[in-house]
Amino acid sequence: MSFESLGLAPALLRALSEQGYTTPTPIQAEAIPLILAGHDLLGGAQTGTGKTAAFSLPLLNRLSKTTPAKGPRKPRVLVLVPTRELAVQVHENLRGYARHLPVASCMIFGGVGMGPQVDALRRGVDVLVATPGRLLDHMERGSVRLDAIEVLVMDEADRMLDMGFLPAIKRVLAKLPRERQTLLFSATFEAQIKALALEFMRDPRQVQVATQNTIAETIAHRAHPVDSDNKRDLLISILARRHTDQVIVFGRTKHGCNRLAEQLETAGIKAVAIHGNKSQAQRQKALNAFKAAKARVLVATDVAARGLDIPNLPLVINYDLPMVAEDYVHRIGRTGRNGATGEALSLVSHDEGGLLRQIQRVLKKDVEMIAVEGFEPSRPIRLDVAIPNPRSKRGGGGNNNARRAPGHRPHGKPAPRHAHAGPKQRGGPGRRGGASRSAGA
Ligand code: AMP
Repeated sequence: MSFESLGLAPALLRALSEQGYTTPTPIQAEAIPLILAGHDLLGGAQTGTGKTAAFSLPLLNRLSKTTPAKGPRKPRVLVLVPTRELAVQVHENLRGYARHLPVASCMIFGGVGMGPQVDALRRGVDVLVATPGRLLDHMERGSVRLDAIEVLVMDEADRMLDMGFLPAIKRVLAKLPRERQTLLFSATFEAQIKALALEFMRDPRQVQVATQNTIAETIAHRAHPVDSDNKRDLLISILARRHTDQVIVFGRTKHGCNRLAEQLETAGIKAVAIHGNKSQAQRQKALNAFKAAKARVLVATDVAARGLDIPNLPLVINYDLPMVAEDYVHRIGRTGRNGATGEALSLVSHDEGGLLRQIQRVLKKDVEMIAVEGFEPSRPIRLDVAIPNPRSKRGGGGNNNARRAPGHRPHGKPAPRHAHAGPKQRGGPGRRGGASRSAGA
C-alpha cells in the first residue's frame, strides 16, 4: 500500500515524500479511501496512529480539486478540537501537507485576543481549526459564517464531551449546512458519542485501529488516593519500603520533576531527572546514570521519556496522572515487557479523579484504589469530576481568580472544574487547574 495508490493529488504526494512519509498507517489506509468517496466516518483512533493525516489528506485533496466560490473565501472545512494544543498540532500538520496547495487556513481558540483571528477570517480561509467555545463567540459577532462548510471534522470527540463542550458543539452544528460530510474521531465510543453520531451523521462508515502500545496483561494497576500535599511523603515512604527496586517516576511538569528529584536526594534516595529543559546530552547522561544503577529513581516528564531506551522495570510510579490517558499507556509500557510482571502505581489526588476515570476507560477496567496507612486522603477521591485544563501547570501560581469566578457560562463552555467538588476543597491556588475559558474555549 502506498500513498500513490490511494489516489491523492500530486501536490500532496510531494509534501508527504518531503516529510519522509512512505507508507500510510493502518488508519490512513482504511480511512482515506472512504473519506475520498464522500462517506461520513467514525474513526476509532488515538493520537499517535496518524489520524490527523487520515482526515487532513482527503480533505486537502478535495480542496485541491474544486474551485472555491467567487468573492471572499468562506471556510469550507471545519475541524473542531477540544484544546488549543490540539488546534496548534492539527493546524501545523495541515499546513505541512498543504504546503504545495493554495489553501488558506486559520486557528480559532480562546485565551488570546479576538482581533488577529477576526482579521484572518476577514482575509478569507478554506480550512478552520477551532475549539467550540471561541468559534461560537466569532459566530455571534458575525466574524465567521459557516454556511459554506462542506466537511466537518470532530477530533478527539470524547475529550470534547469530557470537557463539557456538547452544548457548544450542538450550537455550532445547527449552523452548518445539512448537506456536508462529517468525520468523527474518538478514542472511545461511549453512549454519548454514539448518540452524537446518530444525530448528526449520515450512514457513517466505521474504522477502528488498535492502540499502538498494547497494555501487557502482566501489569498490575493500582492507585493510592492521597491529598496532594502528602504526595511527596507517600512517594518517599513507598520507595523506602521497596528499597531494592529501580523505579521510574512520572511527573507532569519540568519544574516539578526537577524539584522532586532534589527532594528525593535530600531524603537520601539517589534520583535523576529528565525533562524538556535539559539538552539531549544531559538527558542521556541522566539516563546512563540510571542504567548504571548510580541512581535508583528516574523522574521524567512524558515528553522527555519518549523515544528513550529505558530498560524494563518492575515498577512505574505516576506521581502525577498524565493529562491524556494515552500517555498512561506509554508510561506503563516501561514495565511488564516480554511477559515479565510489572506494577503501575498511581498517586491520585482530588483534582485527578477525572483523569483516573479516563485511564480506566482506556484500560477497560477499574484501577484498584488502596489507601496507604498514614496517608489516607482527607475526603474520598471522586472520579466524576471534570478533567483539568491541560494548560494549567501545577505549582505554576499565576492568577487563577478568573477561573474561580462563578460567572455565567455562555455557550455551554466547560464549568469550572471545582464546581463538582465539595465545599471543603483544599489546596493552594496553583494546584488546581479548572477548565477555564482559556481551555480552548
Ligand atoms: P497523529 O496520530 O495524527 O498525531 O500522528 C502521529 C505522528 O505520526 C505525527 O507526528 C505524524 O507526523 C506522524 N505520521 C502520520 N502519518 C505518518 C506516516 N504515514 N508515515 C510517517 N509518519 C506519519
